[in-house]
Amino acid sequence: MNKTSNPMKEDVELKFGKGLVSGYSSAVLGVLSICGVLCFRFPSLLTSEQFRAVYTQDFVSDLLFWTLVAAYVLGIVSYALNHSKVLAWIGIGTAFAASLLGGSRIEISPFESTPYSLGLDWFAISFLFSMLIFIPIEKAFALNKDQKILRRGWRTDLTYFFVSHLLIQFIFLWTNAFSGIAFAWAATEGLQNSIRSLPIWAQFLVATFLADLFQYWSHRIYHHAGFLWKFHSIHHSSHSMDWLAGSRTHLGEVLMTRACVMIPLYVCGFSEPALNAYVILVGVQAVAIHANIGINFGFFRYIIATPQFHHWHHAKDAEYCDANYAVHLPVIDMIFGTYKCPKGKWPEEYGVVSGEPPPSFLKQLMHPFRRSKPSE
Ligand SMILES: [Zn+2]
Ligand SMILES: [Zn+2]
Repeated sequence: MNKTSNPMKEDVELKFGKGLVSGYSSAVLGVLSICGVLCFRFPSLLTSEQFRAVYTQDFVSDLLFWTLVAAYVLGIVSYALNHSKVLAWIGIGTAFAASLLGGSRIEISPFESTPYSLGLDWFAISFLFSMLIFIPIEKAFALNKDQKILRRGWRTDLTYFFVSHLLIQFIFLWTNAFSGIAFAWAATEGLQNSIRSLPIWAQFLVATFLADLFQYWSHRIYHHAGFLWKFHSIHHSSHSMDWLAGSRTHLGEVLMTRACVMIPLYVCGFSEPALNAYVILVGVQAVAIHANIGINFGFFRYIIATPQFHHWHHAKDAEYCDANYAVHLPVIDMIFGTYKCPKGKWPEEYGVVSGEPPPSFLKQLMHPFRRSKPSE
């Protein structure tokens, strides 16, 4: 059987000239095109209220146009180069289906905004730009040069990426509701006015520090409370670090951590530009600290969490896995004595030291609720 006949196969070597890079690219872009067209057709169901505010219809129409063009061109290239043709057919077929559904000329259907919608727009745009930005950076500055893009576990991580983006609106509703119900008493007008009187850059720094402080302690508790560790061990179960690996986080942990991080942000009432800057930092850094990027960053690594800092947290090494809990500011780990980032060195192996969770998304979802085997 031809090794490309199953496009969802793991551990696939993508070499130029064999039609695989063009084939996978065409298939991904074709599927994203269908996502884009569906968002235009069913906006109240498939697009998120918050994310719609950050893009214009013209921008996504242009994006859809070039995505379709690239899917067709790469599909044809793959068809010419690869004997299997499966990927080419998927790419061209999905791009053709997206074209039949309206393509880039499609007008957004009239709709009523609802807070209960899926974030397919958030998934499609975020996935496209994460790939375009991080795959070339990882190729240029790879820590592990032999690591494949379609390495072991990519299907599980992609499922996490898809589900967590699709449910963004519900996660947002939950975190807001949690803070509103439990911490409305702490949000005094005097405190919020004094916070908002600070310049935006200062508000951004305070928001980042406080959010990471709350994240730090919830993260540290996950590592030391047996039941919570079963949720968090999912995040540590990736054996490879790259831009997609950080997506592997149990939905229960996403809800708990987001709620914890929201407490100081809600209570302090930071102004919108400062919060937007913080949200951008979270989006970029959550991907970047897991990336397969072997840059040491010199003194900068003491200022902000870098791949090296967070890779040590993922080390399959009992001496390092309970360290570096911060995700933005290493100074928080320095304050609490948990900073461990040996200069110029990187972990040799990633994963949990003991109690390995199962590999599939659904089994991982059930993992915290299953009894551990005695050997674990
Ligand atoms: Zn951890
Ligand atoms: Zn991580």
